[in-house]
Amino acid sequence: MEAKRIEIKGVVQGVGFRPFVYSNAHNNNIKGWVLNNSQGVIIHAEGSKKNIDAFIFALFNNPPRSSIIKEKAILEEKAEGYQEFTIVESRGGGEQEVLISPDLALCPKCYEDVTRGENRRYKYPFTNCTNCGPRFTIIKGVPYDRPKTTMAGFPMCSMCEEEYHNPLNRRFHAQPNACPECGPQIKLCDGKGKAIFDVTLPELLLKGHILAVKGLGGYHLVCDAKNVQAVNRMRQNKKREAKPFAVMAKNIEIVQKYCYVTSKEAELLDSPQAPIVILPRKSHKLPLSLAPGVETLGVMLPYTPLHLLLFSGELELLVMTSGNISNNPLIYQDGTALLELHDSADYYLLHNREIYNRCDDSVIRVINGQTQIYRRARGYVPLPVEIPEQIAVLACGGDLKSTFCLTKGTKAFLSQHMGDLDNYNNYKEYTLTAERMQEYLSIKPQAVIVDLHPEYNSQKWGCELKKPVIKVQHHHAHLASCLADNNHAEKALGVICDGTGYGTDGNIWGMEFLLGDFNGFERLAHLEYVPLPGGEAAVKEPFRMTVSYLYQYFGQAGVWQATENLQSLKKEEIAIIIQQLEAGFNCPLTSSCGRLFDAVSALLGICTKVNYEGQAAIEMEELADRSFQGKGYDFELEQKELSPILISTGRMWKGILKEISQGIKEEKIAAKFHLTVAEMIVTTCQALENLLPSRKVALSGGVMQNKLLVEILVPMLKEKGFEPLLHNQVPANDGGLSLGQAVIGGRLANVCSSSGKGA
Ligand code: ZN
Ligand code: ZN
Ligand code: FE
Repeated sequence: MEAKRIEIKGVVQGVGFRPFVYSNAHNNNIKGWVLNNSQGVIIHAEGSKKNIDAFIFALFNNPPRSSIIKEKAILEEKAEGYQEFTIVESRGGGEQEVLISPDLALCPKCYEDVTRGENRRYKYPFTNCTNCGPRFTIIKGVPYDRPKTTMAGFPMCSMCEEEYHNPLNRRFHAQPNACPECGPQIKLCDGKGKAIFDVTLPELLLKGHILAVKGLGGYHLVCDAKNVQAVNRMRQNKKREAKPFAVMAKNIEIVQKYCYVTSKEAELLDSPQAPIVILPRKSHKLPLSLAPGVETLGVMLPYTPLHLLLFSGELELLVMTSGNISNNPLIYQDGTALLELHDSADYYLLHNREIYNRCDDSVIRVINGQTQIYRRARGYVPLPVEIPEQIAVLACGGDLKSTFCLTKGTKAFLSQHMGDLDNYNNYKEYTLTAERMQEYLSIKPQAVIVDLHPEYNSQKWGCELKKPVIKVQHHHAHLASCLADNNHAEKALGVICDGTGYGTDGNIWGMEFLLGDFNGFERLAHLEYVPLPGGEAAVKEPFRMTVSYLYQYFGQAGVWQATENLQSLKKEEIAIIIQQLEAGFNCPLTSSCGRLFDAVSALLGICTKVNYEGQAAIEMEELADRSFQGKGYDFELEQKELSPILISTGRMWKGILKEISQGIKEEKIAAKFHLTVAEMIVTTCQALENLLPSRKVALSGGVMQNKLLVEILVPMLKEKGFEPLLHNQVPANDGGLSLGQAVIGGRLANVCSSSGKGA
């Protein structure tokens, strides 16, 4: 008889780990116990050597699919002669670490339950187990127990109760456990709320109808993705002109039919997180309006049993777009849905399980073989990111693609994507969620961290919280976010390329080379400033930046000459912008990288006005000729004593204008432009070489989600001996900003509390 103590840390709570250990112990004739404590899972195992070895092997080779084992320790222990194996109730005492599990996609076993006719859960849309089902979206309070979820109103029937209490059942302690007898029910109704019985969901969809479907974290608007009329109608109804729609494919074979899928991408699609994965499109037979101007498609697989009901033999691909109108938040409450989706949806698929926490679908893209998360929400939130130990803070993020971040010890909890805070409904959700999460995680922030931008609603709100406030520069936060994401606390060069960030000099920064860490930063280089004519208006109308750049380098005459043959730009509009530039009226200065992309995109006639953020750059990336070989355009680095290096693009513009006049295709110019930006970055890094403490280069900011750019840039940097750090756990765009703020703020607040002085 031998005994071992096994300690396991990582994501091992709320993911069915204890029942898994229990049944393994059972199978291998192991006695002893298992318990959860604030650190993770601890097991005391007794048995013959052979049995213990088999038990341990099974433990680490086939753990529950949503668990992540980060650390394990196997220690010798004295056998105490246990007669059975038991699950010991969670140990109180000390501070209980309350980890809330994210929502988990339908697991293979539950898939079998709902697709096999003889099972009592056949076609039951709310089937789940400890390995899958709703979590975060139904939680109203902690600790996570059924009475504190929106399942509280559904008492379990005797059969469900039996499963719930049987440690050998995979529904042991599955809080949302339910069946057709006792659980929530769906209801199909028409626009007037009248229930409908004589038609199936796929029949309605095949006829071209649009359905509002209440899902896991909110409503979706759904239609047959191959039906041109339905897709067009969806665009009109949603008042969404160009932004690509995400789709849900019936299964992985269907994804492969329409898109190119690598094994890594297939794995992501099929993961418990089940995000939207952006894939290159194969077939051009799909309606153009599905994703105009791009060659990619955002695809996900059915992640709840309810989604399975939407598909049929013929119906294989559905538009699955957020149930909302233009920029409003995702709708998740029934009343709002019936009211606001009235004009968008022909039918509603409702159910009586309340969604408590709104959560959008997460969006992921694989770049250079590495996962880049574009939008972090369902499936990932509220799992923490590991950070160096610090005090508890609330970091408020930015106003675009906003998230906030709460820290506790070595954990940083980012909120789900909350959308843009200039929308009042988003703002309301954001502040509500921030309060809720403090309660869920029992975090009492000692300081509040906000962006430097005086107009940000997130800043204003943060400053009202009656706590010490620390303001952090936008791109410094991006740098820190990338460092924290890579678990790198040392000083490094950050190459931050994005759209808009308020600078310490009051200008709008955006292509920044910052040397720094969590304590501070130095601005070593940036893109040369140009005026942003009309301020925010220039973000919506990329051609304004074209005029600004041309005016900067070639003067008024140059602008007229360059735009002479450009049909996409109206002469009157150009004249107004020139006037504005000459008077310097509402023309803040910017070094924005996003605006540089905009300016080139508009000059090439690709996109002169945007319908969604980043459209001009995205469409230019899509258009760029990926087979392009050669060198980029010229550019210059200038430096006056002691001030940052300036990257001047005058020569690049000259080159582009020359090639346009020679009739060179936009595809080539777009590709050459991407190459030029990569060369600017590498050349600048080299120019700064002597000032750098290491070869690490942190790449962050929304522009670093440009697949083409990153795929050119990363090998170039490596070739010159640099070690690029890319985002992985949080977005490179402003969705990841709050993490950077949190680690900077945690540091500064520490300084405040230890020295008694302000930082
Ligand atoms: Zn399951
Ligand atoms: Zn039941
Ligand atoms: Fe940013």
